Amino acid sequence: MIDVIDLKKNYGGHEVLKGINVTINRGDIVVVLGPSGSGKSTFLRCLNCMEDPSSGKVVFNGVDIADMSVNINIHRRRMGMVFQHFNLFNNKTVVQNIMMAPVYVQCQELRRAKRSNMRTLLLNLFRGASKKVPLEEISVSKKQIIAQARKQALDLLKRIGLEDKADVYPSTLSGGQKQRVAIIRSMAMNPDVILFDEPTSALDPEMVGEVLDLMKALALEGMTMIIVTHEMGFAKEVANRILFMDDGVILESAPPEEFFSHPKHPRLKDFLSKVL
Ligand code: ADP
Ligand code: MG
Repeated sequence: MIDVIDLKKNYGGHEVLKGINVTINRGDIVVVLGPSGSGKSTFLRCLNCMEDPSSGKVVFNGVDIADMSVNINIHRRRMGMVFQHFNLFNNKTVVQNIMMAPVYVQCQELRRAKRSNMRTLLLNLFRGASKKVPLEEISVSKKQIIAQARKQALDLLKRIGLEDKADVYPSTLSGGQKQRVAIIRSMAMNPDVILFDEPTSALDPEMVGEVLDLMKALALEGMTMIIVTHEMGFAKEVANRILFMDDGVILESAPPEEFFSHPKHPRLKDFLSKVL
């Protein structure tokens, strides 16, 4: 699904990523470990085009998204991102947070479809609609898009047991609830992959479990996930591959068993001796 080829990133004269090579397959649960400052967040930000790589390729579903000429918005929609500090919009209610991106994207598509009167775009908007329905009978309005997005958002909230929080503001939620809302918000776009940057690092210890449990459930459903975390237990239990990053390169990549029992690189051995 994602092929990262010799990815480099400099800030001024400072080379933060020094040539990352990795392949992510559909259904992979890849955990990224490494000391602070090793470039883990920069790596994730380059994957979803929040940063422009200095050189190298990020081939996502066959398209090099590091290439400035591609429309990154289309690809970014296929990648969810979950941050350490949740990044919910505090001036929007919980349900609005979840609906915002799908509504925005679908309204954009609606405008485009109306302009070009393209049957396929309209049909795509209503993926559930039977292909036999004649074009004239499909009338999509902004109101319908919003209603549909709200229903989907409420279903997602139900799934995490927070449907009663739909119309409150994020400031009234606990950290664990905020992060679970941020995770289902990323799912509302039906992404191909979700990137997590230390999703539990800002949480009180008693709230870490509920967030990891939701992530585990997603993993079991086959969601492709790339997760920067310091949660070793989670990495061991859930990852199918663990990458160790140090000083802008991936020094080791192995399944959890091998990674923890037979680390090869001296710097990984040293890292594990400090964190385990
Ligand atoms: P990690 O997530 O592993 O802690 P980061 O990717 O955040 O590491 O940072 C790696 C290095 O890149 C650090 O030395 C950091 O100071 C530097 N860095 C990260 N973002 C920027 C930026 N926007 N401008 C300049 N330097 C940055
Ligand atoms: Mg980081």
